[in-house]
Amino acid sequence: MQVEVLTDKGLLRTSNEDRYLVDKMRGLFIVADGMGGHRAGETASSLAVETIKRSCLELDNQRIDAYFLREAIIRANEVIFRAAQQDEAREGMGTTITAALIDEGNLYVAHVGDSRAYLWRNGELYLLTNDHSVVGELVREGGLTKNEALRHPQRNVLTRALGTSPEVEIDFVTRNMVKGDLLLLCTDGLTGTVSDAEVKLILQKYPSLKEAVKELTVLALQKGGTDNITTVLVNYD
Ligand code: CA
Repeated sequence: MQVEVLTDKGLLRTSNEDRYLVDKMRGLFIVADGMGGHRAGETASSLAVETIKRSCLELDNQRIDAYFLREAIIRANEVIFRAAQQDEAREGMGTTITAALIDEGNLYVAHVGDSRAYLWRNGELYLLTNDHSVVGELVREGGLTKNEALRHPQRNVLTRALGTSPEVEIDFVTRNMVKGDLLLLCTDGLTGTVSDAEVKLILQKYPSLKEAVKELTVLALQKGGTDNITTVLVNYD
């Protein structure tokens, strides 16, 4: 497996509240996009990634599976929720999480929030996750087009997040991986500005993962760079 990742603060934000994890050895890849004032967003996304990392370390060299991933995310939810309750400045903080595990040709994606996972296969781009956001739900119900969603005033309002309540509902998606597949994980700093059609064109044009993540980020910056942008690209070979 080849992996490239790029995270960028963007042009308007003073800090980067996105976090990611790339663990090639275990086949585990995560993006997390924190939310909350007074830098609480980056605390939430850091706690998510660090808690899952700690769960991995406790397993030593044992293989991780989808069950492990679910348990590790539930634990991260508890850690963030507790930290938010202990500090007024962190009240209500939370994070998205999109975690992908590639194990022996199987892909498991665990997901909460509006970060996304895509599978690129034979020139086609498939969105694997549902955005847990007000506009994401409106689009799925047919009440809003994808283009309208990009400009909607409530486009940043999540309907589900990690750490904002004592329990969390996690979406799970399972797919087979085929040689040559690309897995794309990203935060809404990318997909809030760059359309699926543009992502597809860039992946077609730049077979090098390094160039592809760079071009995706550059395009998001050119189109405003209003948010933190994080992109993880994995080539299954
Ligand atoms: Ca964001």
